[in-house]
Amino acid sequence: MELTQDKTILNAMEPIVINIFEEHVLPNRTLKCDCNKCKLDIILLTLNRVQPHYTSTQVGEAYIKALYMNSQMLSDVIQELARSVLIVEQNPNH
Ligand SMILES: [Zn+2]
Repeated sequence: MELTQDKTILNAMEPIVINIFEEHVLPNRTLKCDCNKCKLDIILLTLNRVQPHYTSTQVGEAYIKALYMNSQMLSDVIQELARSVLIVEQNPNH
């Protein structure tokens, strides 16, 4: 069973953080630098600080949205994203 190649294991926080970044942070905040490298750094920094939530790739976007819409997760992730934005803006990786 080639678990890693099939990518059967997925951290649901990956799409969640990207989703929240695009839908809740970017519309409300102008980034000092909005290149893809800075955006990726913001997402990676955030992912390293929030609790991972492992699942399988079978789950759809609806499941992932339900996971954060009805919980503390949304505000936690927004808070971590805001913090990451500040860090990346102060120390751009390029
Ligand atoms: Zn940049």
